[in-house]
Amino acid sequence: MAKKTLGISVKKSENFSEWYTQIVQKAELADYSTVKGCMVIRPNAYSIWEHIQDYFNERIKTLEVRNAYFPLFIPESFFKKEAEHAKGFKPEVAWIQNSGEELLAIRPTSETVMYDSYSKWVRSWKDLPLRINQWANVVRWETKATRLFLRTREFLWQEGHCVYETKKDCDKETRIYLDEYEKLCEELLSIPVLTGTKTEKEKFAGALYTLSIESLMPDGKALQMGTSHNLGQGFAKSFKIKYLNKKEQVDTPWQNSWGVSTRLIGALAMIHGDDRGLVLPPKVAYHQVAIVPILFEDSKKKVLKKANELKTKLKAHNPLVDDRDDYSPGWKFNEWELKGIPIRIELGPRDLQKKQVVLVRRDLNEKKHVKLTSLSKEIEKTLVDIQKNLLKKAKKHLEKNTVEVSHWQDFKKDIKNRKLVLAPFCGEKNCEEQIREKTDGAKSINIPFKQPKEIKEPCIQCKEKANFICRFAKSY
Ligand SMILES: [Zn+2]
Repeated sequence: MAKKTLGISVKKSENFSEWYTQIVQKAELADYSTVKGCMVIRPNAYSIWEHIQDYFNERIKTLEVRNAYFPLFIPESFFKKEAEHAKGFKPEVAWIQNSGEELLAIRPTSETVMYDSYSKWVRSWKDLPLRINQWANVVRWETKATRLFLRTREFLWQEGHCVYETKKDCDKETRIYLDEYEKLCEELLSIPVLTGTKTEKEKFAGALYTLSIESLMPDGKALQMGTSHNLGQGFAKSFKIKYLNKKEQVDTPWQNSWGVSTRLIGALAMIHGDDRGLVLPPKVAYHQVAIVPILFEDSKKKVLKKANELKTKLKAHNPLVDDRDDYSPGWKFNEWELKGIPIRIELGPRDLQKKQVVLVRRDLNEKKHVKLTSLSKEIEKTLVDIQKNLLKKAKKHLEKNTVEVSHWQDFKKDIKNRKLVLAPFCGEKNCEEQIREKTDGAKSINIPFKQPKEIKEPCIQCKEKANFICRFAKSY
């Protein structure tokens, strides 16, 4: 039979952009849609999303957050209520108009539609805190070039929206949700992230401040992975969310909103993938094990029988048995490597005689013989090790590519060399604009929570007083 080309035809280190496009499509994570700028999320990626959902739902349950669902459509009048917010989202909102009805936006985010409901639900301090999350799709009509998972006109996300009595409660929990995102990325996806506060220029439209988690991709571009915004009282005032406080006085509550999206799947593919394809952290792998029986006519029956026995025995890892007749073992190895399955087990007639299998781990491509009696234990141990090793490797890359500078010439050079640069910064919008222009697009990433006691050097660009050390990089 005529065979399609299976593998990735470019090297990750040579043409990262093309490598990424191929890995996403060939590992069957996503595909382009006929609708421009939209993607089809295929089962291999959707199952990663389900792992993210399961993990996060469990976490937010402990924080007393409930899931709900709000309409996709937002009346234009809602948008106009919060001026900064409306301005910030204006260029990318898609609108629908039916005759005789108000112009409707397709949600780019749900603050406005949710807070209209909140204004009816919040009456007394006894109703607070109100904590609601929704898993939904959002639409942002991008005019920039789109990239699967990273920038598409429609994507999936979760958005949490909470209401509190005091600023203190709101501050505290805005940070808690960010810390949850950090844990999600490290524990589940093996991705190290950088936490901090967004600059005034980069904060969410309408927020008091924005916290974010960011990571550095292998091509040296930073990727924003999640945000948590303290919205202050602005939205509450615009949407007339009021409550009777403990002293029976009418009061205005504080709000936050926080979200992560299917962008995380793109980050995962970029960070862990290699020249042979996707490398999945075991905790998000649909199949943790691929069993490939080596089939010969005379021993086929016996080998297949054993392979299926192993499948039952290892069912906690949802193994697949690749018993296809018309593909060679080599072809099958390549295919499951391409799709990132953490462990491959090869089983041939000779292994059967010796009561062993060949176990290959995807991250290191290491092969070893394992006795059938110790197979379950060995798999458990290897999966834990892969999960840890991927995080360790990614941390190393991040550390190796982070530099601290205090001179403008070094700043420019390191940005050009695609490093993540820490530099003293005044925090002014105009100065950040200048930095962007003079470096061909470097942006502030975030301001680390941990700051030195005193910053001796002036702002990297304008030479005025620096107010903090800030991260800068080229970014997605
Ligand atoms: Zn400055």
